[in-house]
Amino acid sequence: MTSLSFLGAARTVTGSKHLFESGGHRVLIDCGLHQERELQDRNWAPFPIEPKLLDAVVLTHGHLDHCGLLPRLVKQGFRGRVHCTTATAGIAPLVMADSGRLQEEDARFKEKRHAAAGRRMEHGYKPLYTHEDALETARHIDGHAWHVAVPVAPGITAAFHPAGHILGSALVRLQAADGHAVLFSGDLGTGGNPLIEGPATNCGAPNLVVESTYGDREHEATEVSDQLAGVLSATWRRGGNVVVPCFAIERAQEILFRLRQLHDSGRLDGWRVFLDSPMAIGVLQVFRDNPESCLPAVRQLIKDGRSPFDLPGLSLTAGREDSKAINEHRRGAIILAGAGMCNGGRIKHHLEHNLERTESTVLFVGYQASGTLGRQILETRGKSGQEVRLFGRFRQVRCAVEQVRGFSGHADKSQILAWAGALSPQPKRAFVVHGGENVTQGFAAELATRFGWQTVAPTYQQTIEL
Ligand SMILES: [Zn+2]
Repeated sequence: MTSLSFLGAARTVTGSKHLFESGGHRVLIDCGLHQERELQDRNWAPFPIEPKLLDAVVLTHGHLDHCGLLPRLVKQGFRGRVHCTTATAGIAPLVMADSGRLQEEDARFKEKRHAAAGRRMEHGYKPLYTHEDALETARHIDGHAWHVAVPVAPGITAAFHPAGHILGSALVRLQAADGHAVLFSGDLGTGGNPLIEGPATNCGAPNLVVESTYGDREHEATEVSDQLAGVLSATWRRGGNVVVPCFAIERAQEILFRLRQLHDSGRLDGWRVFLDSPMAIGVLQVFRDNPESCLPAVRQLIKDGRSPFDLPGLSLTAGREDSKAINEHRRGAIILAGAGMCNGGRIKHHLEHNLERTESTVLFVGYQASGTLGRQILETRGKSGQEVRLFGRFRQVRCAVEQVRGFSGHADKSQILAWAGALSPQPKRAFVVHGGENVTQGFAAELATRFGWQTVAPTYQQTIEL
């Protein structure tokens, strides 16, 4: 018997975990953290499958909602190997280590806060896992080349094909000895990323597990570099800084790459650029180590010993002191820092130094979820006298607030449909995951009508025989 079980990202957008069972062997595809507040308990609950019964884990890519629960799986008895692309083998350990540190900080912070309020939590103040646990987990990871089927369990192989979402992100094709095969999309890119190849289509399988994050929406078609150049030159004329909240993986590197292109075409003034994020700096090295995961032009730069991110005036500020020193620059500094939605990290310090200055700009390059500081700042746009709370104090947003649209790590509805329709061979069945309740069901119906496939939006812990 060969089956698929959906143990996460089933009618939700985080916590990706899919179990493939064939001939008595079990492979888990992704082991992601649930990030929605209301689903956090699932991170703490025992795994729906005994970890020591798994033969292997295969990762589609290194984002937290796809690999962030691995340290817990290892802590609870998983002894097998974790297979992914070589670039993901570089990124996943950075992401897990950072998450381990944050989990420890969170636990300490909660204990302090509860002590001050005179209460205690029932299950103590243990972190979900520690930095040390994450380092231990990294020892289980094996990186593989693109397009080659590697054995991951007796009678089961996995092959990785470009997914175009972040560096190293893969479509994973699992093939069982009994003839059953499944293609997992992981997260699917737009095809417009200037650094990495778009999603492959020559790796189809009878069964498709497909994401649907934007399965009900279309991206606006816009020219990113022109917008970026416009915001920069306006701020240059006002004599301020540009503060860019951005995610450490992919978005930060894409901005750097586009700044370099602007510079090379003579469209960048004399800015100093600060990449103020140890994780984003770490990812630069993963790019340099994995030229074969990049588009040909970028690959050639790396092979020639030139960094695709090299820019005159670029400073990488890994240490805290260097980070603080950035604030001595009152003008002419572009500062890239996390968190991408301003709900933590070094960006908050840079906001503190620039929010109240009319000369400066806060430039958003990614989605801002409701309830985040980023969304609050974005919503002050076009209104005067608006305040946001930062480090316990209300501050007036006097700087310019801008947004460059058009950056997206996820394919929109038309892009997923175009990719699915181009897959060869064509699937017969599709399982729609990684989307909200309505989106997954709507997108499953759309795939059925358009391609005549049998489709389903599986529910949490549902098992389906292939
Ligand atoms: Zn992702």
